[in-house]
Amino acid sequence: MPATPATPPPALRPYLTARHELLWEEANAFATEHIAPRAARMEGAPGRVERKVADLMAARRWFAVTVPAAFGGLGAGHVAKTILVHRIARVSAAAAAILQATLIPVGALLHFATYEQKGRWLPRVADGSLLLSIAVTEPRAGGHIGGIKTTADRSGGQWVLTGSKIHIGNSHLAGAHLVIARTAETGVRASQALTAFIVEADRPGLSVTDHRPGLGLHGFSASRLDLDHVRVLEDNVVGEIGQGLAVAQSSSILYGRPNLAAISLGIHEAVVATTTAHLKTRDRYQGTLSDLPVLRDRIGDMEARLRAGRILAYQAVHLLDQGLPCDADLINAKYLGHQWAMQSTQDAMELHGAQALDGDYVLQHLWRDIQHTYPPAGTGEIQRIRLADAAFDEDHIQWSERLAAETAWTRHDPTVA
Ligand SMILES: Cc1cc2nc3c(=O)[nH]c(=O)nc-3n(C[C@H](O)[C@H](O)[C@H](O)COP(=O)(O)OP(=O)(O)OC[C@H]3O[C@@H](n4cnc5c(N)ncnc54)[C@H](O)[C@@H]3O)c2cc1C
Repeated sequence: MPATPATPPPALRPYLTARHELLWEEANAFATEHIAPRAARMEGAPGRVERKVADLMAARRWFAVTVPAAFGGLGAGHVAKTILVHRIARVSAAAAAILQATLIPVGALLHFATYEQKGRWLPRVADGSLLLSIAVTEPRAGGHIGGIKTTADRSGGQWVLTGSKIHIGNSHLAGAHLVIARTAETGVRASQALTAFIVEADRPGLSVTDHRPGLGLHGFSASRLDLDHVRVLEDNVVGEIGQGLAVAQSSSILYGRPNLAAISLGIHEAVVATTTAHLKTRDRYQGTLSDLPVLRDRIGDMEARLRAGRILAYQAVHLLDQGLPCDADLINAKYLGHQWAMQSTQDAMELHGAQALDGDYVLQHLWRDIQHTYPPAGTGEIQRIRLADAAFDEDHIQWSERLAAETAWTRHDPTVA
């Protein structure tokens, strides 16, 4: 894959501080030095869960990017998080998926946990000794949170959880899972019926099915959790009883959507760079394929989508760091970011001719990986439902306004040179 540009493109400068630019360089260097050499091995061993890359990112304290300094984190905010996920995804979407899967429940803890709970969990995330997962999706309910069947019942001063969750990112790496379970009778509205719990991975009754390779994102684990009468303490309830829908929805919008936009963007950049490099070196007539107007026309379309996707991804998280209402922008960045990258990847496959189909050619894993940014944090259908609500001015909750970033490296930070 062609080398990654070292500095941010000028179009992103309005969203970046000097510290963001340094982080960009650091993430690029890390991805080149540590992730790229492992990416081929990850790709070639789809049955293996990649732990080393997680350890390396933990040692850099990147799981702490949004954790406030008071809890040992970097307190850097959403733009900084996007830089890390994006720049790593440029080299390995699976490695970026490992990073972002923990950053979603971190966000939920930031906004809903008590001060004491944050003090218990976040410093361990910040020092890299604990990864988290968020466990919402169920085998039957799928993306319909209101259909969650996992139950949590009070018994002897504890909560007892029973049910199953599937496609749980970092299922094999997480030391604790943020599980959304039903705490009210059937018939109670979802907005009051669900509650979030932190469930330690070593609790008796909790099991994770064996890792099974997916189509793409090789090395990233997203398996099934089974909870068979798993007991947790009252203190493991995150947020209020009945607030689970708010925990799940807000973290999906504020963290899941932009994280997935950043992964799609990294894949999209790699796709465009791989394709232009190929066309420039493939001889045709007196020149190369890159001279042919009909092919340049298609590259022009790919570049247009890439540039637009980049702006959407960064503008949305910049608004978030500024505490401005931007739920629809976050949704749009994820929606179009995936769709555009998908379109470019298909174009790239065609522009490579038969070479695209050669065994281990890099484009194949980019094509497989981009399929994985469609379902999580809202499928296309769900995004369009929410965007139509915005068009009809029927947005009920602006999570971005209610739950502004606790800290962020904003442009107005006086400590920035
Ligand atoms: C890489 C990856 C990582 C993931 N990580 C996590 C994780 O960490 N934690 C977690 O809990 N889950 C995770 N998921 C699961 C993800 O959130 C779900 O895949 C998603 O919510 C959709 O659920 P589903 O796949 O069961 O599809 P379904 O809900 O069964 O939907 C199937 C189809 O029906 C459409 N559809 C469903 N409902 C409607 C509706 N009301 N109106 C119109 N169309 C509709 C969908 O858009 C889709 O096209 C992950 C998935 C992937 C691929």
